[in-house]
Amino acid sequence: MLGVDTIFKAVFLVGFVAGYVIRKIYTFRCRHGKAVRKHKSVVDISLISAAGLAMALPLFYIFTPWLDFADYRLPGWLGWIGTAVFAMALLLLWRSHADLGRNWSAILQIKQEHTLVTNGIYRHIRHPMYAAHLLWAIAQGLLLENWLAGWAFLVVFVPLYLVRAPKEEKMMLEQFGQEYRQYITRTGGIIPHFWK
Ligand code: SAH
Repeated sequence: MLGVDTIFKAVFLVGFVAGYVIRKIYTFRCRHGKAVRKHKSVVDISLISAAGLAMALPLFYIFTPWLDFADYRLPGWLGWIGTAVFAMALLLLWRSHADLGRNWSAILQIKQEHTLVTNGIYRHIRHPMYAAHLLWAIAQGLLLENWLAGWAFLVVFVPLYLVRAPKEEKMMLEQFGQEYRQYITRTGGIIPHFWK
């Protein structure tokens, strides 16, 4: 019989591939569009690279014995919560990509025909894609019983968000001015302000 740890590794792999496919589809669709404003920084690029590695670490955990020294045990029910959280992360990742459309880019930039998106999931929160990554990072920890493969992404993602979101909002304010300022007042960052 399959152990629950194997089931949750399989759940992680299915989610990982689904997330990878969503990202690839939209990376292809967003490949055009010249930047008119770019905010590249060594810190941002380093943290994004580290986040990529931390997201890929589970593959080493699942397919090699290299990370076995950092294994520990989690109660099985946490894996089911992780499964639900991962499903929410993927849904949010897909919706944010679909709503942001061609305005999306991995680095902070404003494209030539950039428009401010305030509908769909962006009606409630300004950073649904970052929320999706945060949920992914939590799900990764709940699904994989390994200190490194499980939690590395969360450890990298939190500083990445804290460094990136204020820079992104400053860039959006410079570009969209009053429109973005008003948008900030009626939305939450990664937690929706449903009462507004
Ligand atoms: N912070 C957003 C988007 C992440 S992708 C989220 O978490 O969903 C980063 C790029 O999205 C930035 O380069 C910025 O140009 C663009 N962007 C962010 N918010 C936007 C919005 N509301 N409308 C249009 N483009 C946006």
